[in-house]
Amino acid sequence: MDFKSFIRDVPNFPKEGVIFKDITLLLQNPEMLKQTAEALAQLLNDQKIDKVVGMESRGFIFGPILASKLNAGFVPIRKPGKLPYTTLSETYDLEYGTDTLEIHIDSITKGDRVLIHDDVLATGGTASAACKLVEKLGGTIVQCNFLIELSFLEGVSKIADYQVKSLLTY
Ligand code: IMP
Repeated sequence: MDFKSFIRDVPNFPKEGVIFKDITLLLQNPEMLKQTAEALAQLLNDQKIDKVVGMESRGFIFGPILASKLNAGFVPIRKPGKLPYTTLSETYDLEYGTDTLEIHIDSITKGDRVLIHDDVLATGGTASAACKLVEKLGGTIVQCNFLIELSFLEGVSKIADYQVKSLLTY
């Protein structure tokens, strides 16, 4: 499957100097949507998963599809103030400043086998914070899986303790 031909580079989005990987062409194609979900699920090699954890907002696209395919539940990790119930927070460093992610405190059961999923692994800050939140709640991270890895940003180094798999690498 030529997944890469459905990924569009958008220069200077969301800010000057960034080349944004746009996955909307892939999402709007029925066959590609199905094949992408299947290929992401296959990255697990049949490892059992209890919860798929997806990060706001594009981790919410394939996250629930994957969860359904794997007979797992789906757990959203969101930006501050978006989740309605009691949350646990994790703050992480950006190039300039910090960012915070939140998870519901009752979303992971101790011992849950967790798949962390997002569309893009860039610097790894988001994925690393997500892993910390899941582990604080007692979950075991089986794999961090991404549609796209921007390998030149070396995000894998921030989640080196885990199994990291990506469908497409740039
Ligand atoms: P990181 O924390 O630097 O690894 O950034 C990862 C987060 O930024 C993910 O939640 C992605 O959705 C988003 N992101 C970063 N670069 C891109 C891109 O080129 N296309 C789409 N999303 C991106």
